[in-house]
Amino acid sequence: MATIIDGKAVSAAVRGEVKAAAARLAQAAHTPGLAVIIVGEDPASQVYVRNKHKACAENGIRSFQYALPADTTQAALLALIETLNNDPAVDGILCQLPLPKHLDEKAVIDAIRPDKDVDAFHPVNTGKIMTGDYAFLPCTPAGIMEMLKRYEIPVAGKRCVVIGRSNIVGKPMALLMINASATVTVCNSRTPDLASITRQADILVSAVGKADFVTADMVKDGAVVIDVGINRHTDGKLCGDVKFDEVASKASYITPVPGGVGPMTITMLLQNTITAAKNHAEAEK
Ligand code: NAP
Repeated sequence: MATIIDGKAVSAAVRGEVKAAAARLAQAAHTPGLAVIIVGEDPASQVYVRNKHKACAENGIRSFQYALPADTTQAALLALIETLNNDPAVDGILCQLPLPKHLDEKAVIDAIRPDKDVDAFHPVNTGKIMTGDYAFLPCTPAGIMEMLKRYEIPVAGKRCVVIGRSNIVGKPMALLMINASATVTVCNSRTPDLASITRQADILVSAVGKADFVTADMVKDGAVVIDVGINRHTDGKLCGDVKFDEVASKASYITPVPGGVGPMTITMLLQNTITAAKNHAEAEK
């Protein structure tokens, strides 16, 4: 039976470090600040934004919230970002995605100053991940790397398979694993005979978004299985991509949903905000 990787416990440990760093920064320079913009009333986004605000408050980070109506214009949103770009109390800026259809997400991401881009979605920061010379890492893959590190699960020399190639999870996950000296395969919806590839994985990361997608026959004995998916079963219960019980009986380590990757994502956002605040304090000297 696999050891369960406890994302809540790892998250609590990292948040302890974040809180201490925030207190040090507040004394030495200024309280780290995160601005969170939400446009419209998407219920899932509202929950995420509320959780981010709560996490900031609990860990000594000021959060500035901007809840804009669904009919906000592109010009108004860009003007707000420009104001926040120039506000020294704001170290990090996050615009909750997805945005309403009439807004241009790419233009919005591009408008955030790279040194305040704590989601690490700006092309400057995604480029830096590519070269391994980064200030910020995207929160979900960074959280996964942190969990592996804290459970002392080696990545170097391992065969890693990532299912999913999105810009926010799959691709940066693959890059971080390549940077950590793994041999990495990235799969997508057109990959033929997926199971023959996933069965080769020492570390399997699933970021697909389909309940019960990863079954025991797709997993090698003793593999480490990381479940990024957030889905709901037909009974409404939250679940990941992995058929937990049957895969857990084969894997060496596994992340649960909820309580695995999820808690780490906001925690790494806090950590990125601390990094931004440190860099800004350094630049002011
Ligand atoms: P996404 O943009 O929808 O990407 C899903 C990926 O899965 C795509 O690359 C898609 O391939 C691939 N895929 C779909 N069906 C497949 C199949 N049959 N075989 C192989 N690959 C297949 O989703 P995302 O934003 O990366 O998120 C993935 C999941 O993680 C979602 O459930 C999301 O809610 C969750 N998530 C969780 C966290 C967290 O903090 N825990 C953070 C972010 C996302 P194509 O590219 O070919 O379409």
